[in-house]
Amino acid sequence: MKFEKEFAQLLFRNAVIFIDSAIGYINKGLGNYVNMLQAIVNLQFAMELALKSSVVSCCGIRTILVSKQSCLSDSEIEELYVTNKLKIREYDEIKNFTKGRERLYNFERKEYQYMEMFQKYRNCVLHSSYIFNEQERQSVEKDVIYALIYILGILMSEETGIENRKFMQEYLNDSQYAILLQNPIYNHELYNFLKKEYEDLYTCPYCSTRTMTIDYKCARCFNTFSDRHFFQYVTCGYCGEDMVICDAANIEYNNNYIRGLCLNCGNDTMVYKCSKCGQYINAELFDMTKCHEGFCAF
Ligand SMILES: [Zn+2]
Ligand SMILES: [Zn+2]
Ligand SMILES: [Zn+2]
Repeated sequence: MKFEKEFAQLLFRNAVIFIDSAIGYINKGLGNYVNMLQAIVNLQFAMELALKSSVVSCCGIRTILVSKQSCLSDSEIEELYVTNKLKIREYDEIKNFTKGRERLYNFERKEYQYMEMFQKYRNCVLHSSYIFNEQERQSVEKDVIYALIYILGILMSEETGIENRKFMQEYLNDSQYAILLQNPIYNHELYNFLKKEYEDLYTCPYCSTRTMTIDYKCARCFNTFSDRHFFQYVTCGYCGEDMVICDAANIEYNNNYIRGLCLNCGNDTMVYKCSKCGQYINAELFDMTKCHEGFCAF
């Protein structure tokens, strides 16, 4: 069903629009009541759309349709789709479906509590009013950012473990995202999230924060450092990890020596490129069985 994929993509694209908008308000400052309200409501819209998009992608469009429509044929559902007559189940039901036997996401109680909190805010604001108490106003920035990273970050990113995983943040408006990267709460929560998602993290050569994943992609600036024409890695003499990065594009202009930096422990070391076989070696390990100046092990 081609339209099913198209439908999920459309929900996804609209979720991105609301996230961009929410981030714009976070960047303007949530101490202001208008910005706070806009950020909350836009974030909630994004969560509803992202959840539906994700459920359609994993379980099919019928999962989110009201029962009367879910038993129709593919072509009948497509007809309803193109004529804007699809009837979608309540958000709450879809959310509970993901909690159930299927357990679609690795969410803990806390993530569902956050979803419920924003649902409550949104419903009150749209249908009557909501009086934010002092504590809610104090924590609203942290709460919005938490939901952005831990809920939308999961609903809209590929699974962990996939090489060159595409992150939700990569779909966002670049200039608003760049401002968000100046936000200490965002950086703090992102780091905590990544620590939970990945066993090992390394220092990104571009951001200088510990946000690079094992597949040499930074989960903060999204630069990748895996192209072997530009980046080579040797073993670190201090921590033992193969994470000493060096500038492979310039080492030959430098008499085959260049300084490398360990992205795990931060120590630097001299890297040598064998002029015969082209291997990269940590010259400060002084391992005479490996290639060194005047000697090739191969
Ligand atoms: Zn980075
Ligand atoms: Zn090291
Ligand atoms: Zn060699």
